[in-house]
Amino acid sequence: KSGFISIIGRPNVGKSTFLNRVIGQKIAIMSDKPQTTRNKIQGVYTTDDSQMIFIDTPGIHKPKHKLGDFMMKTATNTLKEVDLILFMINAEEGFGRGDEFIIEKLKEIKTPIFLVINKIDRIHPDQLMLLIDQYKDLLEFTEVVPISALEGNNVDRLLEQIEKLL
Ligand code: GDP
Ligand code: MG
Repeated sequence: KSGFISIIGRPNVGKSTFLNRVIGQKIAIMSDKPQTTRNKIQGVYTTDDSQMIFIDTPGIHKPKHKLGDFMMKTATNTLKEVDLILFMINAEEGFGRGDEFIIEKLKEIKTPIFLVINKIDRIHPDQLMLLIDQYKDLLEFTEVVPISALEGNNVDRLLEQIEKLL
């Protein structure tokens, strides 16, 4: 089994941290500055009977200029072609304006989507339950998976769920 997995979400939600943890090396540029990752950087995670090819997809945000518009189209086309989308949010910030735009784009796409709620090490479990309720109404997610990319909580479970879907 093998498949392409695209990771999307607002800047600083922890996409690169997740990729680096899964792949086990610095394959994506980590920074607090938004949009440092300009290219589709791929990392491959291999188990006994599966191969997951991760793509760090930049450009899913409201375009401010022509170049942004072009990047947006490229990103949307990528999302149509992958086997799974990981839509990552920051548990601490919850749902924000940047996410509205991403969700509208995701509604046009048939690819399965996992909602990955990252940075759960920073919040109370009650807060997590509230977040899960909020997102359920916005889009049909195949799975909702809370993780901490930094500390590694539940990352193994997420990988198992990805493997099942491939
Ligand atoms: P990206 O812009 O989505 O690629 O986000 P990064 O991976 O660059 O992470 C942005 C910041 O969030 C960095 O300072 C990370 O150390 C931090 N971060 C990422 N994941 C977690 C997490 O699970 N918990 C906490 N507390 N911080 C995290
Ligand atoms: Mg990044």
